[in-house]
Amino acid sequence: MINRMKLEFAALSANEPFARNAVAAFCLPLDPSLDELSDIKTAVSEAVTNCIVHAYRGGQGTVVIECETDASAVHISISDAGSGIEDVPRALEPFYTTAAGEERSGMGFTIMQAFMSDLSVTSQKGAGTTVRMSKYIGRGGDAKVADAD
Ligand code: ATP
Ligand code: MG
Repeated sequence: MINRMKLEFAALSANEPFARNAVAAFCLPLDPSLDELSDIKTAVSEAVTNCIVHAYRGGQGTVVIECETDASAVHISISDAGSGIEDVPRALEPFYTTAAGEERSGMGFTIMQAFMSDLSVTSQKGAGTTVRMSKYIGRGGDAKVADAD
């Protein structure tokens, strides 16, 4: 069965834990392992943080998360209507950051790619960015979240 949800919230760092935990909760019917759930939370956290710190540069804005699950995967899109990214392939490179002075390491996209099954980024300068990522669930034999309850 396909399930879906949409979240829209203010681009405030206070909302980052809400966003990652809401997406994780939505994935629970897929019976993910603790590791899979942790990977999803980390990837969502990185993408939402990018919207807050880069797209809106700490100013006002809205972040939209859309999620769809099917029998074996979660598909997540995280969008902003902020500054956009000038050069997407470059932004995806490890250690590339435009905010080195703010102690950013340029590893957010690399972490998202490592923790999710696939990732794509579309962006338009001055119009905003959408990060799409999917994770296939149930391919490892790790402990299930339900086991830890
Ligand atoms: P870190 O994530 O390690 O704290 P970072 O955010 O700079 O550092 P990435 O998350 O990999 O590293 O992002 C790389 C670069 O891509 C950023 O420095 C920024 O220039 C650009 N970027 C990423 N997401 C967005 C976005 N939503 N809007 C505008 N620019 C973005
Ligand atoms: Mg980042």
